[in-house]
Amino acid sequence: MSLELDAPAEAAPDVADDGVWLACIECDNVLAPFDDVVYTCPDCDSLLEVRYADLPTFDDFEGRGVWRYDDALPVEMGVTIQEGDTPLYSVPDLEEETGVEHLHVKHEGMNPTGSFKDRGMTVGVQVASELGVDRLACASTGNTSAALAAYGARSELETLVLLPAGKVAAGKVAQASLHGARILEVDGNFDTCLDIVQDLAGMGEAYLLNSLNPFRLEGQKTIGLEILEQCKSRTGEFPDRIVLPVGNAGNTSALYKAFRELVQAGELDETEVPKLTGVQAEGAAPMVEAIEEGNDEIHRWDDVETRATAIRIGNPVNAPKAIPGIRETDGTAVAVSDERITDAQRSLAEEGVGVEPASAASIAGLRKLRDRGVVDADENVVCLTTGHLLKDPDAAAAAGADPEPVPGDTEGVLEHLD
Ligand SMILES: *Cc1c(COP(=O)(O)O)cnc(C)c1O
Ligand SMILES: [Zn+2]
Repeated sequence: MSLELDAPAEAAPDVADDGVWLACIECDNVLAPFDDVVYTCPDCDSLLEVRYADLPTFDDFEGRGVWRYDDALPVEMGVTIQEGDTPLYSVPDLEEETGVEHLHVKHEGMNPTGSFKDRGMTVGVQVASELGVDRLACASTGNTSAALAAYGARSELETLVLLPAGKVAAGKVAQASLHGARILEVDGNFDTCLDIVQDLAGMGEAYLLNSLNPFRLEGQKTIGLEILEQCKSRTGEFPDRIVLPVGNAGNTSALYKAFRELVQAGELDETEVPKLTGVQAEGAAPMVEAIEEGNDEIHRWDDVETRATAIRIGNPVNAPKAIPGIRETDGTAVAVSDERITDAQRSLAEEGVGVEPASAASIAGLRKLRDRGVVDADENVVCLTTGHLLKDPDAAAAAGADPEPVPGDTEGVLEHLD
């Protein structure tokens, strides 16, 4: 395996604040992290990432949740609802069926608002409050809006969310609504919502908390750090592969960054970096297309459709970070049908693990890659499940058994049971 890792850290430039700065991933531009509000490189418009003069080792991590990893984060704990510390479940039936040596499910649905988005928001909203902004905003397929609404409420900042009309699961809209976000239902898909909110942010109308925001991805690195620690204590080794659903490819980018930083710190050997394996729905698979065709860039899909609404995205904004992540770790990307996603959702439910459709894509992807012989039997695999079953009650009810009407007396119930 060839794994050339760009050094994420270098001698801190003049602009660094307490050893933290922003760097463009394409040109040499470096920026002060907390002086001005900036999302992309002012010179070349590419993505930015957070860099550190000092990178932590595993021994530096103490405490619980996302903030256990504060030495790997750009700010100190502020706005928190106790995110992170999610379970790594064994799934013996799926392990046996897929025939891999170890299979675990990292269930990010067990975060405070029911998705991994909380990990990014606790960091991103803390940065927003330090920057002194007065309005937060995001475009969302649902979970980002639920998380932003909760963290916005917690930090007492006004929150604006843009959702594709009719394409967001009921639980997510309910969350955004009750936590007090102002909800704009846009006549368009997620990518249109993101175009609009980026315009608004560029005009200074709001602080953008989509995963284009480099601080959010720092929080999401902790998924990778937790997986490594939990998997090692459970199986004695780091995972060979992490299979995850891909929407905007924020997690793929964040996990890759977490691993590069550990390599840089001498905590992880290059050969130990898990293979990042992305899964998309067949109806929204521009990332799979780019990986399969060997392209460095995504071709935006204008028409996207899938039951897995959380990953109904045609223009993954973090592709320039995620494509190298998949390539350099020797991973891959695969597309799965909605039917396979629902089958996987049922299989997880049979093991007591309740997830929303997008999350089940990871298991559906693993099954397909085992069938194709891409994933070996001796692998130690972690599948990431990104959101909770209750996020999308309609999809869960449709995938499950129908309730049976019975009379209101014991005899009638007994008769029905026979
Ligand atoms: C946001 C989200 C995704 C997509 O994650 P990316 O980091 O954007 O690739 C997948 N599943 C669920 C449930 C989500 O909420
Ligand atoms: Zn640049």
